Amino acid sequence: MNKRRGLMLVICAPSGTGKSTLTNRLRKEFTRLAFSVSCTTRAPRTGESDGVDYHFLSRDEFIAQRDAGHFAEWAKVHDNFYGTPKQALTEMLDEGRDVLFDIDVQGAAQLRQSMGEGGHVFLFPPSFATLKDRLLGRGTDPGEVVNRRLDNAPGEINQAIHFDYWIVNDDLESAYDQLRAVYLAEGLRPVYRPNLPAEILGNAAQEDSDG
Ligand code: ADP
Ligand code: 5GP
Repeated sequence: MNKRRGLMLVICAPSGTGKSTLTNRLRKEFTRLAFSVSCTTRAPRTGESDGVDYHFLSRDEFIAQRDAGHFAEWAKVHDNFYGTPKQALTEMLDEGRDVLFDIDVQGAAQLRQSMGEGGHVFLFPPSFATLKDRLLGRGTDPGEVVNRRLDNAPGEINQAIHFDYWIVNDDLESAYDQLRAVYLAEGLRPVYRPNLPAEILGNAAQEDSDG
C-alpha cells in the first residue's frame, strides 16, 4: 500500500515561549520527522552548530540566495534575515518525510501560499510575565535583545487567528501531549493519502477476481 505523503508541521510562537524545547522533544520521539534547517544572518548562539540549528550566512550571502529564488519563504525577524531553503524541503517531502518548521508568523503565511497544505500550530506563552521570565531565564540573549523580542510578541500573537491549532505552553507535559496529538492527527488527514480509497477498492476488486 502506498505510504502517505510527507506533511509540513509549522510551529510559531513568540521567542521564549518554548518552541525549541517542545520541537526538540517531538523530533527525539519521532525520528521520521525531519527539521527544516533555516538560513539566517544572526550570529550563532553558544552551543549552536552550522548546518544543524541553522545555516549561518552573511547578509550578502543571504540576499544573493534570496534573489536567486532559493527560499520557499523568507522574512526579517528581530533585525535579522531568516529563510527556508526550498530545494532541501522539496527533496524531503518528495521522499515522503514529514518536515517540522520553526519559523515566524510572516514565514508561515508565505509557506501556506508557496507550498500549500500543512498543519500550522501557534504556541502561546501563559502570560507576558512568564514569557519575560523564560527569555531572561534562558540566558542566551542580552537585555536589549530580550526587550526587542518582547516588543514583537503582541504583533505575533495577533496573527494567531490564521493558525489551525492553538496550544498554551504552561505546563510542559500537557503542552507536549497536545503537540504530539496534533502531529499524529495531522498525518491522518485525507489530503496526505488521496489514493487510499482507490487502493482499498482496487484490492477488493483484485480479491474478487482471485475468487
Ligand atoms: P523558544 O524556542 O520558543 O524561543 P525555548 O524552547 O528556548 O523557547 O524556551 C525558552 C526557555 O523557557 C528555556 O529556558 C526553556 O527551558 C523554558 N521553558 C520552555 N517551556 C517551558 C515550560 N512549559 N515551563 C517552564 N519553562 C519552560
Ligand atoms: P531565533 O533567532 O530565536 O532562533 O529565531 C527568531 C525567530 O525567527 C523565531 O520566531 C523563529 O521561528 C524565526 N525563524 C527561524 N527560522 C526562520 C525561517 O526560516 N523563516 C522565518 N520566516 N522565520 C524563521
